[in-house]
Amino acid sequence: MTFSELGLSPKVLAAVEASGYTQPTPIQAGAIPHVLAGRDVLGIAQTGTGKTASFTLPMLTKLEQGRARARMPRTLILEPTRELAAQVEENFVRYGQNHKISMALLIGGVSFGDQDAKLTRGVDVLIATPGRLLDHFERGRLLLTGIEILVIDEADRMLDMGFIPDIERICKLIPPSRQTLFFSATMPPEIQRLTQQFLRDPERVEV
Ligand code: AMP
Repeated sequence: MTFSELGLSPKVLAAVEASGYTQPTPIQAGAIPHVLAGRDVLGIAQTGTGKTASFTLPMLTKLEQGRARARMPRTLILEPTRELAAQVEENFVRYGQNHKISMALLIGGVSFGDQDAKLTRGVDVLIATPGRLLDHFERGRLLLTGIEILVIDEADRMLDMGFIPDIERICKLIPPSRQTLFFSATMPPEIQRLTQQFLRDPERVEV
């Protein structure tokens, strides 16, 4: 299997090549075609398996199609920690080097000022921890009605950290027509239940 067989755009393939990757990892080979086809995905994979690129690469390809309405964000990636959110942002910067993609990292522990300024200018991609995202929403700074793709990453850690009620609230702010990508390293019964709540007829990819 090569990257060029997965259906990614030429711009994304150029960035993959510049990263020095020769072959997709199993989670990438399994998930990317389903993401591009618009399917919901349940990905069971740990950090270190190339999981981040399995959603960032096809999301960048899809962002090349269509355009934002009124500069509203089109994709939202939820992460349990600031560190993971910052790593996802680095991935978007690296793989999106040939794109004109604007993004905002909405995490706690830093002032609202820069984050607000970015939201006011308009962004395509939001990368956020659940609490800070809801803070922005409550301040009236954020509309999520343009979100086309939602990623719930590290779902088992989200559960351990008590973020599920926040995620349930966030999901109600996003149109039900969205595509949802849900990743977890483990699949205890509580997470199984959440997949039924958040995903529609998902493709399951386990590595
Ligand atoms: P992740 O599981 O997303 O945290 O990725 C783990 C590491 O693997 C990161 O440092 C990536 O840069 C790297 N990586 C991701 N995909 C590939 C690939 N197809 N070939 C080689 N390295 C990769």
